[in-house]
Amino acid sequence: MTVGKKPDAARLDKIVAEARRAADQRDLGYRERSLKMYPWVCGRCMREFTHTNVSQLTVHHRDHNHDNNPPDGSNWELLCLYCHDNEHSRYLEADRGLV
Ligand SMILES: [Zn+2]
Ligand SMILES: [Zn+2]
Repeated sequence: MTVGKKPDAARLDKIVAEARRAADQRDLGYRERSLKMYPWVCGRCMREFTHTNVSQLTVHHRDHNHDNNPPDGSNWELLCLYCHDNEHSRYLEADRGLV
């Protein structure tokens, strides 16, 4: 038996990698701009970030529309991964009328 990837898996890997790259590039635009615009502090828990852990600081869209990226940054909020997650689950619960 040979060890290694089947052709199918390799093709799937490539598709996934390409989709991820496209998402990364879209994300790069507003992420880089918002990181230049705002201090590296989570807007909820006020945790501060540096170059070593800034990957855990994410850009939240206040209106939850990722395509709404006004140049003045008014739709962005920097949140750590934990608070960002929290923010979205809160939003979903509100949608379902649970809050
Ligand atoms: Zn936080
Ligand atoms: Zn968000």
